Amino acid sequence: MTPVMTQVVAHVPLLDLKAQYETIRSDVESALLRAAESQHFILGPEVDTLERSLAQFLQCKHAIGVSSGTDALVVALMAVDIRPGDEVIVPTYSFFATAGAVSRLNAVPIFVDIDPVTFNIDVRAVEEKITSRTRAIIPVHLYGQCADMGPLMDLAERRGLIVIEDAAQAIGAQYRDGRRAGTIGQIGCYSFFPSKNLGCFGDGGLVTTNDDVLAERLRLLRAHGSKPKYYHKLIGGNFRLDAIQAAVLNVKLPRLDGWSAKRRANAGLYTDLLSQSGLAREEATGVTNSREPIILPSAVYRECGVRDHHVYNQYVIRAKERDRLRAHLTANGIGTEVYYPVPFHRQECFASMGCIDADYPNANAAAETSIALPIYPELTAAQIEYVVVKIEQFHQR
Ligand SMILES: *Cc1c(COP(=O)(O)O)cnc(C)c1O
Repeated sequence: MTPVMTQVVAHVPLLDLKAQYETIRSDVESALLRAAESQHFILGPEVDTLERSLAQFLQCKHAIGVSSGTDALVVALMAVDIRPGDEVIVPTYSFFATAGAVSRLNAVPIFVDIDPVTFNIDVRAVEEKITSRTRAIIPVHLYGQCADMGPLMDLAERRGLIVIEDAAQAIGAQYRDGRRAGTIGQIGCYSFFPSKNLGCFGDGGLVTTNDDVLAERLRLLRAHGSKPKYYHKLIGGNFRLDAIQAAVLNVKLPRLDGWSAKRRANAGLYTDLLSQSGLAREEATGVTNSREPIILPSAVYRECGVRDHHVYNQYVIRAKERDRLRAHLTANGIGTEVYYPVPFHRQECFASMGCIDADYPNANAAAETSIALPIYPELTAAQIEYVVVKIEQFHQR
């Protein structure tokens, strides 16, 4: 007789947007109604309010709503006048938009390997990629933790390069000096895609800057470069944010700090439980040793005394037997994802660049071992315990 299959005792999705919606439903409903009654659909007072609140929240001079995180990158590159043939240095391990935005302007993304501990751009590897054609660097604050901006800004200043931060996954995160992700380079780019820490009800994004001249250019480029209407100073695009998205975000922004704190607490519980299980340890070198099958994510600015040292858009562990572990978790009702299975230097669309795979050992290792566990704010301790029990069970077989 075949043994009775193990029952799926819980369902832990990777992300549960409905759980969050339940907590803000009535406020969101009135905001949506207000937006509908106003019949003002694009930019306007809701967007103005949001831009003011975000500039205050991020402690920067200008916050400018745009149509998506991808468009934030495109309009930022346009604002600093990136031209065909210019080289822009990006980490090879990120969401596609980081590199795609560069290519869309007929500029050339130049890929750099990542740091094995943080998964962020390896600042030491940036300098050797700088040529006479290099114009800018786009560090990505992956998973919700800042790239090492101090040395990166020093290098950029020394070599006369522009820094555009991809802070799509890191809104609110603080660098070791307390400054917020996206406010350290010349322009910061953010996404309000629903799965981001501050998500709207569709596509939306933001650019930030402390430079008045760049702010004016960004505002112009967002709406076809016209000022006044029908008189075009620059060739821009339609990169505008909808009022309805701003109305939703105006309800959510005051709750963002609380949600980030919950994400950090969830990460802390995973880290405690997985460490106690003996399966994992927090890794300072990023190298899997033979004893522990799992490496936990490192919060490298935790000791710097900044509260928002990490905002955990994702909680990504590395597992030796990643694909089999993932199948086991899926079979037990646990949602996971791989961010990202294919680094840029391995993408088919960049094949003509002739990248050498062996130049990117850390990104290649990350692509082969990383797995994101559920980390959203509304996750319960019981759900996290269940995930850890299932990870333990996998390794006991
Ligand atoms: C989500 C994301 C983007 C793109 O944002 P969209 O709003 O989806 O266009 C860009 N870069 C990174 C790192 C992202 O995670």
